[in-house]
Amino acid sequence: MSGASFILSINIAVAGLLAAAFMAVAAYDGRRLAARWMAAAYLIGMGYYIVELAIPTLHDAIPAVVVAFAVLLVATAVFNAGLAAKYAVTTPWLTMLAFVAAATVTVAIVQDLPRQSPARMMAYQFPYAVMQLIGLAIVWVGNRKRDPLARLLMTVLALSAAQFVSKPFLAAALGGWGANPQSYNGTVYAMVSQSLGTVFAVAIALLILVILVRDALGEASARSEIDALSGLLNRGGFERQAETVLLRAARHGMPVSLVLTDLDHFKAVNDTYGHASGDRVIESFAAFLREAGVPGHIAGRIGGEEFAVLLPGTNLAAARLFAEGTRSSFGALPIDSLPLNHRCTASFGVAELQPLESFRDMMRRADAALYEAKKAGRDQVRIAGEASAFPNGNGNGASRSVSGTG
Ligand code: GH3
Ligand code: MG
Ligand code: MG
Repeated sequence: MSGASFILSINIAVAGLLAAAFMAVAAYDGRRLAARWMAAAYLIGMGYYIVELAIPTLHDAIPAVVVAFAVLLVATAVFNAGLAAKYAVTTPWLTMLAFVAAATVTVAIVQDLPRQSPARMMAYQFPYAVMQLIGLAIVWVGNRKRDPLARLLMTVLALSAAQFVSKPFLAAALGGWGANPQSYNGTVYAMVSQSLGTVFAVAIALLILVILVRDALGEASARSEIDALSGLLNRGGFERQAETVLLRAARHGMPVSLVLTDLDHFKAVNDTYGHASGDRVIESFAAFLREAGVPGHIAGRIGGEEFAVLLPGTNLAAARLFAEGTRSSFGALPIDSLPLNHRCTASFGVAELQPLESFRDMMRRADAALYEAKKAGRDQVRIAGEASAFPNGNGNGASRSVSGTG
């Protein structure tokens, strides 16, 4: 077996393994269309290597050369479809398939040119470079988040394109690509070219696998922070994200306020109208909190019918206004699942983060203010007093009355 045939055999195995890896990612998350396209691309790539390996045994190799060329080019088009799925860009199928057809016809025509002619070699290599650049363009358009890994992928795709364009020159430098297709596999050029191809195919596949797996893990952990009923952050998610917001606010010297709120007499809603109706109330209230906040705010469902909203860049007075506005408009809102004349209300506790205060201490003060609002008759906003200066205190401070019906 020649060196190039040996590398071709390895390439078949490597392409198969990469296809399997992409299939595993696709199986892990059925929505990952990109992984399926990538698996298909590498499977088609295996087909190319198999044809290439068979060529030395053929009597008339020209049709097989054209077929091998087209198969690999189709593999790169399918690969680009995978990139388009990943980066949410419309796949330029028409452009790519028209290009595959035109390039294949061109390669079939140039088979009549002398085998070592630069035009013939370029007709064979240039289309691959174009396909890699189409892939690069897809990532470029789709990479709205300026992901560094996507940038690295674009760099590798550009290098891969350059590699294809350089091949005719490489062939000339290494003594040509054989007197006929059958002898191609025996040339030094074939060995170098096939090795280079493997390095790029593996580098690109690994990079995309890393990107897909990273994103799948990121989405899974984001999902684990979301409460299914309300669509808001759950308690764990709220606490984790709150810490981040607090750190950022501290860096910029911005005030941060917290609003805790709890639906009033909610047990009675469940008891009177049923648990499903209660769920609809939770959904409506959650939608309210999500839309009412300032930019950059985070909202969480931290208990059954208890919610928290963290407002960065908001001082106590502004947070109080927010709570007041939410209280009065939610209290006036008819809710689908309840009789038209029934209104739900909520009570609110508001606190602003004090210098050197921890998130938990602010939570405690807001909770104490919420308790005061309940005690005073519900459907009210109470603001937390400053943290107790005395070490024996529980840090709750006294709460002050702001508003309410009671
Ligand atoms: P208060 O005004 O003092 O807050 O009275 P309340 O009835 O709202 O408070 P309580 O803590 O006594 O009851 C809360 C109720 O919330 C009890 C529980 O069944 C209900 N609840 C908790 N989670 C859910 C949920 O996911 N769906 C529904 N429908 N009810 C829930
Ligand atoms: Mg309640
Ligand atoms: Mg409660």
